Amino acid sequence: MSPKSRLSDHERALFARQMRLPGVGEAGQLRLRDAKVLILGAGGLGSPVGLYLAAAGISQLGIADPDKVEISNLHRQIIHGFDTLGMPKTVSAAEALGEINPGARIALHPEGFKPDNAAELISRYDLVVDCTDNFATRYLAADACVLGRRPLVHGSVLRQEGQVASFLPGCGCYRCVYPVMPDASSVPTCADAGVFGATCGVIGSWMAAEVIAVLLGQRTQSRMQVIDVEAGTSKVLRLSADPSCPLCAHAGSIRDLDAARYQASSCPAPSMSEYPLEITVEEACRLLTGVNPPILIDVREPDEHAVCRIAVARLIPMNTVPARLAEIPQNVPILVHCHHGGRSMKVTQFLRSKGFPQVANVKGGIEAWSVKIDPQVPRY
Ligand SMILES: [Zn+2]
Repeated sequence: MSPKSRLSDHERALFARQMRLPGVGEAGQLRLRDAKVLILGAGGLGSPVGLYLAAAGISQLGIADPDKVEISNLHRQIIHGFDTLGMPKTVSAAEALGEINPGARIALHPEGFKPDNAAELISRYDLVVDCTDNFATRYLAADACVLGRRPLVHGSVLRQEGQVASFLPGCGCYRCVYPVMPDASSVPTCADAGVFGATCGVIGSWMAAEVIAVLLGQRTQSRMQVIDVEAGTSKVLRLSADPSCPLCAHAGSIRDLDAARYQASSCPAPSMSEYPLEITVEEACRLLTGVNPPILIDVREPDEHAVCRIAVARLIPMNTVPARLAEIPQNVPILVHCHHGGRSMKVTQFLRSKGFPQVANVKGGIEAWSVKIDPQVPRY
C-alpha cells in the first residue's frame, strides 16, 4: 500500500469521529479524501456545502461562481464576511475552505459554469453539487451531468422550504422530474421572496450529507427530499428514470449543451407564482365549497380509493397521470391529493412542468382531511 493510499496520523486524528460511523472507516475516509467535487455557486447553499465538504476531508474541491461578495449576501452566505466584500466569491470561499482544511486543493472557476465550458469542467470532477439559484444553470448542470455521466446533487430553497436531490447516472435525472425549464419570472427567487440564512443552512447541510453518502457508495438510486423547515417535515421521493424523459431516455432529444436552450424565455409567464405549490386542507375545503371550485384529483391507487374518498375527487392514480393528461383541463385551478401528500406533490410538480400553471398539492392528503375537515372519512 503506497503512503498516498493511506491516511496520515494527522488525518486519522482529524477525522476520527466520522470514521467511526458505519460505512466510513479508513476506506471511506480515503474515498472522501480522493474525490473531486465541483461546487456550482458559492452562495447561500454553496456556503454550508463547501464548509462541510472541506471539513469532512474532501480535499479536491472546485468552486464555480462569477459573482462578487455583496453586503446583501452576508446574512445567509456564511462562507464570506465583511472582510471579503467586493472580492470574487471564488476567492473569498477558497480562503474560508483553506482555513478549515489546509491540505485541500481548491480550484477556482470565476468564469462560472456556462454552456461553453460545462462539459469540459465536469469531466475533471467525480461529482457535481448544484448550489445555484437560477434555472438556466440548474438545467445546464442537470444536462451536463447526464451527458457526462456524473452524479449530481441538487438543492434549492424558497422561503422556508427546500429540496435536496441526488441523481445517479442511469437512475433518473432532474428532467425526469422537471422536463422543461420554466420561465425565470414564473417562480420567485430568494431576491424577491426572501429567505432566512438558517434555512439555507439546513438545506445546504443536507446537500453536503447527500454528497458524502453518494461518494461513500451509500446511494443505489436517485432520490429527492422535500423539506419544510417551518413545519419541521420532510418527505423522501424515490426516483426512477422516466422513459419519456427528454434528456436521459434512450430516445431523448437533448444530446448537447446548446447555449440557446439555457436562455431565459422572454415570454410572459403564466400565473404560477400566484398559485401556491401546496395548500392546507382548510384552504382546500374553502376553495372546494366556494364559487368556481377547483378540480380535485385523487392520485392514490384504486384499493386506497375503495377504503375512503373525498366525494368530489376524481381518481387518476399517479402512474396513470402521464397517459391521461388529455383528461385534465389545462387552464383551470386543480388540487391534487393522495394519502399523506408525498405522491400528490410529485404529480403537482409533474403537471406544472407539463404546462398546468394552476396546480397545488393538498398538504397532508386525505389523512389530514379526515383529521381536520371530515372525521366521517375513514383513516387507514
Ligand atoms: Zn431523465
